[in-house]
Amino acid sequence: VDASIYLHIPFCAGACGYCDFYSVSAGRDESRLDDFVDNLLHVVLKSIQSGGFDGVPTVYIGGGTPSLLGPERIGRLLGQILAALPAVPEEVTVEANPESLSPAFIEACAASGATRLSIGCQTLHERSRRAVSRIGAVSCVRRAVSDVARLFPGSFSLDFISALPYQTEAILEEDLSFACGSGADHVSLYALTLAEGTPLDSAVRRGDLSLPDPDSADALWIRGRDFLEERGFRQYEVSNFSRPGAESAHNMRYWRLENYLAFGPGAVGTIVDEEALRAVRTTWPADADLWCAPGVRGEAPDEERISTRDLVAESAIMGFRLRAGVPNDVFERRFGVPVRFFYGKTLDAWRDRGLAVLERPALNPAGLLLLDRFLVECLSELDSTYPRYEERRR
Ligand code: SF4
Repeated sequence: VDASIYLHIPFCAGACGYCDFYSVSAGRDESRLDDFVDNLLHVVLKSIQSGGFDGVPTVYIGGGTPSLLGPERIGRLLGQILAALPAVPEEVTVEANPESLSPAFIEACAASGATRLSIGCQTLHERSRRAVSRIGAVSCVRRAVSDVARLFPGSFSLDFISALPYQTEAILEEDLSFACGSGADHVSLYALTLAEGTPLDSAVRRGDLSLPDPDSADALWIRGRDFLEERGFRQYEVSNFSRPGAESAHNMRYWRLENYLAFGPGAVGTIVDEEALRAVRTTWPADADLWCAPGVRGEAPDEERISTRDLVAESAIMGFRLRAGVPNDVFERRFGVPVRFFYGKTLDAWRDRGLAVLERPALNPAGLLLLDRFLVECLSELDSTYPRYEERRR
């Protein structure tokens, strides 16, 4: 059995106005970061030694802002984890934000085994950055990306956001043009979502800021998608684009509902028991303090049992995000029936409307824009198809 590893680094230099992830201020106390890395290493190494996994195909260090750990800590974390694995993973990604992405950090990532960096650019438009309290000036983003292109021997990905305040089509095209010319082989383009309770949400409610209306926001994202596709970046997932062969192997494992272990405050992992057709989902408490004192080991993750029915549902929810659709090989090996068994009627209806292709089966680009609606129909069909599956299994 294989399982990927995800490590969550919860620290951030500031709080972006749209963010509703769990993150905490890094503060000035460097010993907190040392204790965090020591504790994380202790828990991860113990799990690797006792886990009984045959291989770890991918490792992903995300956040938060992992680059805030600095070169020495990232080198120690990655170096010790990779040395403890039975074989070299095919992909090792580290997320970074420009303001903390120094040449020394880039070199430490490369020297300790990272194969891929993922950089949170978001936009190169100063006014939009300020409107959503995004730390780091545009010059800092440009400098960081050019350092990565020059110094990092692996590949790299850039993240951008569409429908930010003050963003026009021309501004988005400038951002993506920078991405296409940067040497990155992967770009994520997220449509801004206004999460309730965030500072951005409050600013919009107060009338201090305005965002594009939903139709304009959709049109902007579609323009971004087409811009990237015209330049050889193929959309392979709702928000992700890559040059051929440069898809994120780690994230593909999430969308294919393959095993991954997760560590760190708020981190969520899933291990599927292929024989029982159930899964265990582990969630670590979202409390950085539990990991930031000498000898504190983050307590234990909460464990949730995922039923066979929920696994079938999650396979659709994750798999239909992909342009290639739900992976029939994984699905049939796991459940013993093809994807159509559960979702055939919905797929036929969406094919008839020109929004799905049955061969894979998958949504086409127009269908992907309506993914949420499609999934509602799939899950309602599952209510009638799942009992038939249960009968078959008896
Ligand atoms: S850097 Fe990322 S995780 Fe941190 S506050 Fe901003 S969006 Fe949230």
